[in-house]
Amino acid sequence: MEPPTLTPTQERLLHQLRRDPAPLVFSREFVDDLIARAQDGFEELSERLAGEKMFVSKGFITKVLSCEVQHLLPDDFQWTPAKAKGFVAHKAIELQTNWRGDPTPAVLVDEAIARLADQASARSDFIAGLTDADHAELRGYAIERVTRFMQDFPPIPPSAHPVPEASTKWAPTSCIDVSSKADLVIGKPDGRISTRLIIDFKTGAKAHHHRLDLRFYALLETIVRQVPPRKLVTYYLDYAEADVEPVTEATLTSALDRVLSAVEREVELRIEGRTPVKRPGFTCRWCDVMPSCTEGRAHLALIDDDGRQGFDDPVALPTVDALS
Ligand code: SF4
Repeated sequence: MEPPTLTPTQERLLHQLRRDPAPLVFSREFVDDLIARAQDGFEELSERLAGEKMFVSKGFITKVLSCEVQHLLPDDFQWTPAKAKGFVAHKAIELQTNWRGDPTPAVLVDEAIARLADQASARSDFIAGLTDADHAELRGYAIERVTRFMQDFPPIPPSAHPVPEASTKWAPTSCIDVSSKADLVIGKPDGRISTRLIIDFKTGAKAHHHRLDLRFYALLETIVRQVPPRKLVTYYLDYAEADVEPVTEATLTSALDRVLSAVEREVELRIEGRTPVKRPGFTCRWCDVMPSCTEGRAHLALIDDDGRQGFDDPVALPTVDALS
């Protein structure tokens, strides 16, 4: 078979993802020490959980380390076509990885929707209950995402062992479960050489916490498999750009510190009853208590320097239009 002709976007990305000529091998001593520190840290925190179960994921870490008041609000999350496009597109990409032939994005997305509707989960209940209009909207969003991936991301040969929706789980104690699910992991293991790439796909704006999410995935991969990945990649579908961060001892150490401090905060807030601290930030924009939160409104007024978003007056409430 002729190798595929790459587009300039695919060439650029491939260049960013290539392995360095010298193999990357982390010291065994560093990895063992990191794992021992993680085990000790979780065991210590587990003793303060008083038997409560805790599930640690990237979303949990980001949330508890942001505004603590918002973190403790009741979870009223509901799926919408816009929120569901990610997991539908990921399922379609998973199918594409193993599909024989040359399927179109629409075929992959239709098959993904059909399969997801058949599973037993809240996501599947949402898919199974879609109205015709919501189905059409979700299908359109997901096809756009899958098309961008198929057109801009370099083709991945099976020899690179691609794993879409790659889950990693670790239970350091009987009370704590730590888990991650990367959109795509690529790389064939080779002894202690770091070969794997961990990739997350994003639509919309770039955010600093995307790197932190991937560092958490790298930490978990290191703890579970004892070989760190080599690079962390956030691929922005709308920009056709990848943010690529090499994995280092420093990134893994900072990821461990971050996850331990997230769990400690949760223990303080939910078990030990510490008063939550308000931390205004970008999530104020869609916080349920924002209309009555002085700190949140002041923060939004500060960043809304020309008043166009309706937050220039920290006292007056913005209209619904201004928030949409
Ligand atoms: S508006 Fe902002 S500061 Fe206030 S509770 Fe919500 S997230 Fe926290």
